[in-house]
Amino acid sequence: MTLHSDLTSAAIAAHCATGAAHVAIELIDETGSTNADLLARCAQLAGPTLRIAGQQTAGRGRAGRPWLSQSGASLMFSLAWHFQGPLHRLVGLPLAVGVALAETMASLGVPVQLKWPNDMIKDGSKLAGILVETQQAPDGGVWAVIGCGINLTMPDALEQQIGRSVSAVPWLAQMERNTLVAALLSRLAAVLAEFDDTGFAPFAQRWNALHAWQGKQVNILDDGKLLQQGIAAGVDQLGRLLLETDGGLVQIMSGDVSLRLAQE
Ligand code: ATP
Repeated sequence: MTLHSDLTSAAIAAHCATGAAHVAIELIDETGSTNADLLARCAQLAGPTLRIAGQQTAGRGRAGRPWLSQSGASLMFSLAWHFQGPLHRLVGLPLAVGVALAETMASLGVPVQLKWPNDMIKDGSKLAGILVETQQAPDGGVWAVIGCGINLTMPDALEQQIGRSVSAVPWLAQMERNTLVAALLSRLAAVLAEFDDTGFAPFAQRWNALHAWQGKQVNILDDGKLLQQGIAAGVDQLGRLLLETDGGLVQIMSGDVSLRLAQE
């Protein structure tokens, strides 16, 4: 029996806010990647769709990096959402999604922070990852498939496989699962609708209030190579990381660069 065996589409929908009532909900025991599944079906989707998997066998992060999970220990889902174009309006979307997840966690009694551009941090280690992938829609809009993986518990074997310090939320693992998913989906739906209207600008302040490494000396790495060093000073209205360097203030676009604390 998986940790998700008590999930049903009807029970999730029953707990959702009205802003999420139009989201179709799919549950599956196992798949390669919920993001890959939905990306392959964007053209056929009738509307926003949430796909939740009990286990992923080929979960992925940015730049083809793996996202590892264990059946019963992780909450993994993807949400396909249609946005007005053009594509460049979606640059800050992973950060807005981080705000939605972090605000939901806080509302459930678990304070978390955000690490630019796409990680949720608890007690200094990664608790959840976000992967946004996009596909042009025929109407000029864009489908975004927003993947989220949250560590509810962290079995020793999984932590060893990941090979770095990670965190989990056993407190939320105890929570009635349909209510937990509904809380996440309701907040996400509200944030995505707002983002589609306004873009990232109104989220910058909310993101900065949750910034894990504000004022810390950090390194920007590209495939392990040091690109920039400086003091992390939050994000701007586009979601770029502001870095105070010896040469002045620099804006970093996310691309595929990684962020590390300087002493790591
Ligand atoms: P980084 O975390 O290295 O700064 P990133 O934020 O871009 O890069 P992602 O691509 O979002 O990372 O996620 C993939 C990385 O997350 C993997 O390389 C691995 O180190 C880590 N990881 C994989 N599975 C988990 C998990 N269940 N919990 C926490 N971290 C994980």
